[in-house]
Amino acid sequence: MSTNPTPPENILIVGGGSAGWMTASIFLQSMGKNGSKISLIESSNIPTIGVGEGTTPLFKRFLNFLNIPEAEFMSACKATIKLGINFPGWTNSDEFETYFHPFAAPGHNQYDQQFFENCNQRRKGKSANSNPADFFFNSELAAQYKAPVGPPPCDSSTIDYAYHFDTSLLADYLKQRCLEQGINYIVDDVKDVIQDGNGGIDRIVTADSGEISADLFVDCTGFRRLLISKTEDKEVISYKPRLFNDRAVVIRTPVSADVDFPPFTESRAMKCGWAWRIPIGSKISWGYVHSADYTTQEDAEQELRDLIGEEAKGIEPLHIKLQTGRVSKHWNKNCLAIGLSQGFIEPLEATALALTQFSINRFVTHFSRGGYQADYRDHFNEIVNEAFDCTVDYIQLHYKLNSRKDTQYWRDCSDNENITDTQRAVIAGWDSESADFISVLKEQVHRSSYAPYSWYCILSGMGRYANASETQAGNRITNPYKEEVSRYYGHQEYLNSL
Ligand SMILES: Cc1cc2nc3c(=O)[nH]c(=O)nc-3n(C[C@H](O)[C@H](O)[C@H](O)COP(=O)(O)OP(=O)(O)OC[C@H]3O[C@@H](n4cnc5c(N)ncnc54)[C@H](O)[C@@H]3O)c2cc1C
Repeated sequence: MSTNPTPPENILIVGGGSAGWMTASIFLQSMGKNGSKISLIESSNIPTIGVGEGTTPLFKRFLNFLNIPEAEFMSACKATIKLGINFPGWTNSDEFETYFHPFAAPGHNQYDQQFFENCNQRRKGKSANSNPADFFFNSELAAQYKAPVGPPPCDSSTIDYAYHFDTSLLADYLKQRCLEQGINYIVDDVKDVIQDGNGGIDRIVTADSGEISADLFVDCTGFRRLLISKTEDKEVISYKPRLFNDRAVVIRTPVSADVDFPPFTESRAMKCGWAWRIPIGSKISWGYVHSADYTTQEDAEQELRDLIGEEAKGIEPLHIKLQTGRVSKHWNKNCLAIGLSQGFIEPLEATALALTQFSINRFVTHFSRGGYQADYRDHFNEIVNEAFDCTVDYIQLHYKLNSRKDTQYWRDCSDNENITDTQRAVIAGWDSESADFISVLKEQVHRSSYAPYSWYCILSGMGRYANASETQAGNRITNPYKEEVSRYYGHQEYLNSL
């Protein structure tokens, strides 16, 4: 085993979307400091994807790693705060008409246990308040439209939160930083990819800059998968049998200055999919993620326009085809796929940038330990595949657990038997009155990035209780953090202060 492999002399990143510039930023800070020359090439003819995205709290670690001050990033990317996701309309029950999935707040978790116990009571057919909104700190921050920041003794370091922003602005911002740090930047179109004799990549052919070779190639070309699809293993595992959605229609509406932006994403169930509502900059991004097998582009657009109302009038929509699935080898020979080129799970829990960040970080660690050794590469692929697939397990549960019966789409989602043994065991464990559900989770989903409270939130929030109508929630309580949360800055007040 080599302990200190030589870093690649020349690294070429192809693609300048957020995946390309996130890779460049992390590489400059790690492999660049160890002597690698880093280049990035992007086309000026092929646009990047930037629809108005949400992140997970992992993104804060990305900012910390790069020493980027939050205020600087938020102003440059016109970011807003995200404390969690609100899910209206996923059930046919009045009690569970909506639920909030908050990010954790490790410094404020005194009532988690009470929530678990109440859910367990209801699983046993007894009445109890099992609404996640009543127990979590971030749920209350969201309900009061607060930022996770406030005057002392408010402490944001004990609260997990994330952001909403347009990834195109993130790419621009990171690009500027990388240019200042001396990245070799080329604007050109890649016309061809030439393989070496071992199934790896030898060089690329560009329109105007000739041929460019490198030791390590990073494919950040999005859904095109320009490089990774040339390596010997072309297998793409489709998520379509599990996640039916393959289209999105996006409309951005302007908002007047006196509107307060909510510090959370709304993900509302629609007839054949769901619609996000995300505040970014001076706009609201709306997107309807749907399945072409159940609705047409025109009907989906109309349904989204009806949801938005007057403000959508006259605004051009953007229609996007989604390819959900992942490659089986994210790192193959001397080619690494990062971002949409490595895979995409539909955006319901906004996990793409987190998986991108996870993959880049793990690659840097694995490469620094084992270089191109096959066992390090295989292990990297194994853990990245697992990260993708465990995330799908959680996301698909939204569909599997829905109790809407109004369209074929929703009936097919709940009837879908393309679920994993893990999902089956989690649902069976929850449904069983006698099972200790925490133990079931410890056994089944210990490798998931979703903590036990998230599984409780989705199962309870979706009203997965036998005899739910007879075991109506016990009296709703006032969220115990109400008073404490009132001392935090308003979300809009915080945004205005940046
Ligand atoms: C509908 C939708 C909603 C989403 N919502 C979320 C969300 O809420 N949260 C989240 O984390 N993620 C979300 N994502 C994913 C997120 O947008 C992407 O992960 C992110 O933008 C990274 O994209 P990328 O850089 O991999 O690809 P792209 O943005 O597509 O960039 C590809 C780059 O490759 C370049 N390129 C392509 N071909 C060539 C060529 N021949 N020569 C030179 N350059 C080339 C292009 O010019 C471009 O620079 C969503 C995606 C979609 C489609």
